[in-house]
Amino acid sequence: MKIYHSRGNALLPRIDRIFLIARGIAIGLLFASLYLDFIPERHFLVGLTIGAIFTLHYVIFIFAVRKRKLDLRHAYLATMVLDFTLTTVLIGISGGFGSIYFILYYLIAAMASYMFTREFAGIITLLITVGYLAMVYVELDSLRNLLIACFRLSPCWVAYTAISYVAEFLRRSEVRMLKLFDTLNRRTSELEKIQAQLETIYDNSRILAGILDVDAVIKAVMQIVNIVLKYPAAALLLQSGEDNFIFRGRAIDGDINLNIRTAPEGSTILMNKVARAGAPVRIIDIQGRDDHVPLRSDTRSVMLAPMINRNKTIGILLAESSIPGSFSERDEKMFWVVARSAAMAIDNAALHRQMEELTTIDNLTGAFNYRYFVDKLDEEKRRAARYDAPLSLIMLDIDHFKKLNDSFGHEVGNIVLKGVTQIVRGCIRDTDISCRYGGEEFAVILPQTPLDDAQRIAKRIRVMIERTTFEVGDNIDKQGVTVSIGVTSFPENGHPQAELVRLADQAMYRAKGVGRNAVVAI
Ligand code: GH3
Ligand code: MG
Ligand code: MG
Repeated sequence: MKIYHSRGNALLPRIDRIFLIARGIAIGLLFASLYLDFIPERHFLVGLTIGAIFTLHYVIFIFAVRKRKLDLRHAYLATMVLDFTLTTVLIGISGGFGSIYFILYYLIAAMASYMFTREFAGIITLLITVGYLAMVYVELDSLRNLLIACFRLSPCWVAYTAISYVAEFLRRSEVRMLKLFDTLNRRTSELEKIQAQLETIYDNSRILAGILDVDAVIKAVMQIVNIVLKYPAAALLLQSGEDNFIFRGRAIDGDINLNIRTAPEGSTILMNKVARAGAPVRIIDIQGRDDHVPLRSDTRSVMLAPMINRNKTIGILLAESSIPGSFSERDEKMFWVVARSAAMAIDNAALHRQMEELTTIDNLTGAFNYRYFVDKLDEEKRRAARYDAPLSLIMLDIDHFKKLNDSFGHEVGNIVLKGVTQIVRGCIRDTDISCRYGGEEFAVILPQTPLDDAQRIAKRIRVMIERTTFEVGDNIDKQGVTVSIGVTSFPENGHPQAELVRLADQAMYRAKGVGRNAVVAI
């Protein structure tokens, strides 16, 4: 049988001390009663011994408990046994029914009810009842005496019933509250962890929004998934066309791979579902499903979040784990935050690239503008110097363009400008860069091209333009124009790199000087 309670240590009132004080007083009263001859002369020595035992036990008890040398529970059990035995003997030697020491039983019953389980305290109270009745048995010859004995014992039962009920109730409450505290502590530390994670994600999202290059955004997102969220396998896919996806980033066991790879056919059924639904999805166990091809062969649980910005899904963020049901609702929420931040950042970067293109391209002709020409020439010069490679520059000016404008109007001039742009573009290679340098002047940068090749290209342009007539309007005849071209190459021109533009310009004016519709090289 269970004797002891599993004692909590926080909420129960510490009434042990009250019992100790009561015991102290009881011992005092016992000695007083000895002094006042409550015990007959012949039993005086026994009474004195009992008082001495009580006192000795009391002192040892207080000392041991103070020094924590004793398990309190065993100490109380021993006290109970001692108290019951000595009190019963005391009643026996001090006159049985006439003795007043039965009062000591009250203390025992109260203590037992508080210290021990309800069942064990019941047994002790029963023992007290039986013990007392045994001591006063001879005098229970009248109903009156029997009633008196019952009256005397009844406080033991009242104490037992009331105290054990209250004690048990308090103990149960205590267990419940301790459990509650535990849960509260766990929740608090969980919340703190989530908060820290959210703060990191928030910081990273802000950084994401500032990145203006799509590839750099993707790399940063993969780092967040890898380092902050710590998912063992993850990927970022961008939508391409109706139902296709392209892998732009993968992170498996901490290795980030940014190679571009088209998702295999049939592997994107689940992704498409998520993209259409516009909400994240968690799959507890992917085994046996054929709507998703996992990143790793041991993948069990999968989480997908659509990357949505301005109501448009641009891709999917994917995370996988080899443990079934590894992703929680909290993971899903956080993952979606990251997916949306990523979508916004990728959109931003793409928009930035478009803007950049708009500012580098000439409105009228679609060729690169002067600003771009300056930047690009600078870049190519540096590259040429680094690799010790040749670099050529062609400058081209339409002959008598003012006259064409004056005769047929600006609109016709514009059509011719566009036409010339097309012809130049058709005569150069993909690696060459044609720009509108000014009004009717064009420049072509030819990286890694020696003077010979540049001259050949220039001549081809001159001939092509000379041979072309442009459709300029309903009532006007087709118009033809000629161009004067200057060519120069570094290092063959023997001048510093910085003088490329000046020399090409100079060559072009020489071409004008020799009668226009000519190519001159310096
Ligand atoms: P040259 O053979 O000496 O080069 O004679 P030119 O008339 O071509 O020389 P000039 O540089 O004096 O004339 C350039 C003309 O190009 C002046 C301007 O009206 C015209 N022009 C400049 N930009 C544009 C444009 O965007 N559209 C049109 N239609 N004409 C332009
Ligand atoms: Mg000009
Ligand atoms: Mg001109």
